[in-house]
Amino acid sequence: MITCANCDTPQFLQITQSRVYFEDGEMINEITETYECTLCGSTGQYVYDEDRDEETVTGDVTLTKERPKFA
Ligand SMILES: [Zn+2]
Repeated sequence: MITCANCDTPQFLQITQSRVYFEDGEMINEITETYECTLCGSTGQYVYDEDRDEETVTGDVTLTKERPKFA
């Protein structure tokens, strides 16, 4: 789960951009999501690399243990 580093809550986070990368037309191997906190205006980016099973965040967001759900 992604939380705002400033507000320490995911409550006001909005996904402003979401991208899924495909490999061989089927397999999802990378997901990129850009977040914006509607309360304080902070922005950050979340990247999930399926090949390496690695999650990284940059900017004013923090990654907590729970993985976000993808529709
Ligand atoms: Zn915030």
